Amino acid sequence: MSNITVCARFRPLSSKERRDHGDSVCIRCIDTETFILKDEKEEDIIFSFDRVFCEKSDQAEVYEFLVLPIVRDAVNGINGTIITYGQTGAGKTYSIEGPGILECGEQKKGILPRVVDGIFEHIKPDKMAKYLIKLSMVEIYMEKIRDLFDLSKDNIQIKESKIEGILLSGATEMSIIDPAEALQSLSTGIANRAVGETQMNTASSRSHCIYIFTVKQELTGDKRMKTGKLVLVDLAGSEKVEKTGAEGRALEEAKMINKSLSALGNVINALTCGSGRANHIPYRDSKLTRILQDALGGNSRTALLCCCSPSVSNASESLSTLRFGARAKHI
Ligand code: ADP
Ligand code: MG
Repeated sequence: MSNITVCARFRPLSSKERRDHGDSVCIRCIDTETFILKDEKEEDIIFSFDRVFCEKSDQAEVYEFLVLPIVRDAVNGINGTIITYGQTGAGKTYSIEGPGILECGEQKKGILPRVVDGIFEHIKPDKMAKYLIKLSMVEIYMEKIRDLFDLSKDNIQIKESKIEGILLSGATEMSIIDPAEALQSLSTGIANRAVGETQMNTASSRSHCIYIFTVKQELTGDKRMKTGKLVLVDLAGSEKVEKTGAEGRALEEAKMINKSLSALGNVINALTCGSGRANHIPYRDSKLTRILQDALGGNSRTALLCCCSPSVSNASESLSTLRFGARAKHI
């Protein structure tokens, strides 16, 4: 990837955190890039990211800084990825979807509806150029890929084509004509995710949810095609599972999640290493990194949003989330 932008976002304290731990927060923002976390040993750890979004930051701020540049590039044929990372309850889904995908108002709407608006604002169909916008939604659970537009497709395979790059073989691609239709499709996919969870008795926090927008631009004059892929990833919760507590399926889920999150970290590290020689990028170590291969590698942009609770009770999970972000940025 040509560059990665790493940001931290701290949500407001939840009412449960307030009830159980009062107003004690472990985070102090110094400026727009620097903040301090007080760990369990009461030691100050200083972080410097591309941007820190404190609890008062709103959805528009996150979108404009982190996502808008990627949307602009995607409509011009440059791939981009936006990833939310963090423990369950840290604000990943809130950041991506907002409090609800269809009706949450201008102010609170998340990255997804803003991306939809952004794509349609930035494409300029005319005599010279035609656009084709497609959307796929899949979920990775226990290293199996499920189509969120068609739950009967529960074992999608990844293929690689010379021309089109990484493909999800047989996954539904919705053609998107306008923003309203895109939101309707997204809402269907999100509802299907919940249905699938109920059927399989799983929780959304244990799977990765991936939204893939493909923007094809065809110049009518010389028939040249440009394709930009914009991928949004709502990762499974990064929390450590109690070594003694988890057993059975919970333990298997935790192992799979650990494996794919560390694969993601390794791929990002290998890509940002930037050494002159062609180093090996371990995309094949997980389904997640394999799907993201051409959105992360090559000439592309990546944004990582590290979502954290500000509460002292979550300090150690927040620290591990922020360390993941720091590792992604500097080697
Ligand atoms: P995750 O997807 O990381 O498990 P959620 O996005 O579901 O976490 O957030 C957990 C809870 O916190 C939700 O009730 C959500 O509405 C709330 N929340 C998260 N981030 C914010 C925020 N920035 N502002 C207000 N509420 C938030
Ligand atoms: Mg979530």
